[in-house]
Amino acid sequence: MPPRPKGDTHVNSIICTTCGVSQFCARPDQGFACSHCDSLIYPRELNVDGGEVWAVDSTGTLGKVIDPAVSCEAMTEAWESWLAADSDLTARAALQALLAAALDLRVALRAGLSFS
Ligand SMILES: [Zn+2]
Repeated sequence: MPPRPKGDTHVNSIICTTCGVSQFCARPDQGFACSHCDSLIYPRELNVDGGEVWAVDSTGTLGKVIDPAVSCEAMTEAWESWLAADSDLTARAALQALLAAALDLRVALRAGLSFS
């Protein structure tokens, strides 16, 4: 997944492979339609990378987010790195990793995913 600007709360949109132009929007039948060429895709057809899951944002746009469990694990690792940091530089890097993972988690939670 490409890096997002800090504070971005949107899913990483999935672009239609048929036309390469537009995103998919939710339909009433639980499928998604390309808003440019009307190609259809259903959740069972989605192929997401390890560590990612599909999600739909508040506008109905289909996308991918980091799995909340992965973000929580990354936050734990960053926190442990911060506790063990032996310099300001490594402490700062740990906090940046913690922030990045927290922002990923926020995107997933805003898309309605949960974690335990
Ligand atoms: Zn299309």
